[in-house]
Amino acid sequence: MRYLSTRGNPDRKRFCEILLEGLAPDGGLYLPEAYPQVSDATLQQWRTVYHQQGYAALAFEILSLYIDDIPADDLRALCAKTYTAEVFGTGEIVPLRHLEDGVWIEALSNGPTLAFKDMAMQLLGNLFEYELGRRGEELNILGATSGDTGSAAEYAMRGKKGVRVFMTSPHGRMSPFQQAQMFSLQDANIHNIAINGVFDDCQDIVKAVSNDLAFKRKYKIGTVNSINWARLLAQVVYYFAGYFQATASDPMNIRAGVGSFSVIEPSKVSFAVPSGNFGNVCAGHVARQMGLPVDKLVVATNENDVLDEFFRTGVYRVRGTADTHETSSPSMDISKASNFERFVFDLLGRDGARVKALFGEGLSKTGQFDLSADPAFAQAATRYGFVSGKSTHANRLQTIQDTWSRHGMVIDTHTADGLKVGLEQRTAGVPMVVLETALPIKFAATIVEALGREPERPAKFEGIEALPKRVQVMDADVAAIQALIAAECGY
Ligand SMILES: *Cc1c(COP(=O)(O)O)cnc(C)c1O
Repeated sequence: MRYLSTRGNPDRKRFCEILLEGLAPDGGLYLPEAYPQVSDATLQQWRTVYHQQGYAALAFEILSLYIDDIPADDLRALCAKTYTAEVFGTGEIVPLRHLEDGVWIEALSNGPTLAFKDMAMQLLGNLFEYELGRRGEELNILGATSGDTGSAAEYAMRGKKGVRVFMTSPHGRMSPFQQAQMFSLQDANIHNIAINGVFDDCQDIVKAVSNDLAFKRKYKIGTVNSINWARLLAQVVYYFAGYFQATASDPMNIRAGVGSFSVIEPSKVSFAVPSGNFGNVCAGHVARQMGLPVDKLVVATNENDVLDEFFRTGVYRVRGTADTHETSSPSMDISKASNFERFVFDLLGRDGARVKALFGEGLSKTGQFDLSADPAFAQAATRYGFVSGKSTHANRLQTIQDTWSRHGMVIDTHTADGLKVGLEQRTAGVPMVVLETALPIKFAATIVEALGREPERPAKFEGIEALPKRVQVMDADVAAIQALIAAECGY
């Protein structure tokens, strides 16, 4: 398998080459040259693999189609080390919970930081350690976070050989739970930097350091953002696992505690996906392109509806800072969707020159492009199964209240956006699987607003706010951050 850039550069690369890279040199995103096709027979075989050998074995089957520069035994061991009941809380790793007739919630948030980002980041941590060890290299990950991404990265990279993490966050602006989650880590390779400023100041530091090419090269500065292909690939696996559970006709095949399965081998399943940077639902697109029988891919946004607008109108319009709302599903508060270029590349028949014109010059000049008059646009729905909708704070509260009063289940604010839009997009006879992207405890204030009660806290997080904190407060001063990185590296 070779990888190409969405902007038409003729270079072809292998998996481990792009693993540690961010954007392609031409500014594009990496995608496989072709999506491996999964026959019905293979699909049946994978179903058995998942139910009998578990999630890690299924992950190996899928990943090995895309990764041919890690020996099979090593890749199998990396998957087995990543997807354990110990790290993810259950043997199924991503159990389906039955909500109502034909509607399921796929639990993706039982990893170390209680958000679905752990599903990919935990694998990335192990892949990084493996590949850096093989090369005898080091990597310094510099990031900016307002919550979920930073903590998922730190919990994935803690204690990993060859990796240091320098994570900036706006001082005093994350929730107490999020601060406690990150700052209580005592690992020597994890550095929390609380910046006197807002999230944009943190992002500006990361950009400034990355643009200092001499510094970047000397200190091997890297990132773990959601455009990394390995993160997306890891997410493809749980679409298959969700499908196998939602279409299981033989309850005996299902381990205990995942609801009653009355569905009898429907031909297709739809997924509703709370979306921000389009990474999660893009993994669903890849699964569908491989031949997984997916009916609709439902893109659910919050008030920041860049993606909903595109799928409704064909216009992709990046928002400015002033038009980017702070919402109660904050992990979806985006002004542009950084993975969206991957889907547009497929939609436009993989025309790299056109993608380059749209996302390169086009967006930087006008901040938008319009595909409404292009015959390809209609195919987003008809050929690729994409539909969309949005959810507001009032919808979110209502959905959380309904789910609690009718089903006795507390869901988080992002999952509520997915459920709201998913219910609107149901088709009779087609199971709708809503992806749960975080646990409610991470966004407790809105749960209290909706239900008048605190969400449940998993035992391992009892009292974390009282743990000693390892964080340094610094001004938004690029030179000072660079000095800190250099001092830690000692060269
Ligand atoms: C990151 C995140 C999202 C958005 O996922 P994308 O892959 O960026 O579309 C949704 N919900 C939660 C809780 C998240 O952390």
